[in-house]
Amino acid sequence: MIALSGVSKRFSNGTQALSDVSFQIGEGEFVCLLGPSGCGKSTALRIAAGLLAPDSGTIAFTGGKPEIGFVFQEPTLMPWADTLANARLPLDLKRMPRGDADDRATRALARVGLAGFERAYPRELSGGMKMRVSLARALVAQPKLLLLDEPFAALDEITRNGLGDDLLKLWREDGLTVLFVTHSVGESSYLAGRVLVMTPRPGRIAANLVLPAGRDTRLAPPSIEAQRSISTALNETMAA
Ligand code: ADP
Ligand code: MG
Repeated sequence: MIALSGVSKRFSNGTQALSDVSFQIGEGEFVCLLGPSGCGKSTALRIAAGLLAPDSGTIAFTGGKPEIGFVFQEPTLMPWADTLANARLPLDLKRMPRGDADDRATRALARVGLAGFERAYPRELSGGMKMRVSLARALVAQPKLLLLDEPFAALDEITRNGLGDDLLKLWREDGLTVLFVTHSVGESSYLAGRVLVMTPRPGRIAANLVLPAGRDTRLAPPSIEAQRSISTALNETMAA
């Protein structure tokens, strides 16, 4: 679905964020990009989304650039707009007629558990609910590829786990391709089918770990086994 090849990025202040990053993600995969803070995860994700140009290297999509949904770490909602209008934004930008757009946004909100909250304003919602609106907004244009940048990092553990389970359900139902950035070994060990471990800055891909099947719960033995192998790979790259 997407392939980054030899991608490097240096910011104008001289910070080398990425150095020769290459990876591929197949259609329908759920891949986590894991690495320490500041290693270039957000930079890689923004380059994958086409929001930022690399200095060198290429980004290729099989079958042309797909519809992409993007979820940021902060919900980034418009405080003056209600939940429905926030979720509808990508369709408004596509100039979809209001009636159709409202129908789709209503459905997207229902899918993330927010039926009945269409007229609520962001200030009336909890952190988890705001993130659900952000997820609905990312899904409303029915993307093939969903990119998420530490979306649940600011949430408490119980809320984070609930959102993770719901995201897995949406991924399965929609046959989405997901690239999920996180610095949490535990989160990646449960959510992903495959984990790309990055080195400290300048980020490179240090390991590509295919996780074992049978991770039906966070504490299932294969989930623990996955945690151990991801943790080992991360420690090795941090020590190198
Ligand atoms: P991560 O998401 O893994 O925490 P980032 O991709 O945000 O890392 O950043 C990688 C490095 O690039 C960091 O050192 C960060 O300070 C730097 N950086 C990020 N964006 C910019 C920018 N626009 N200008 C200059 N430096 C930046
Ligand atoms: Mg980041």
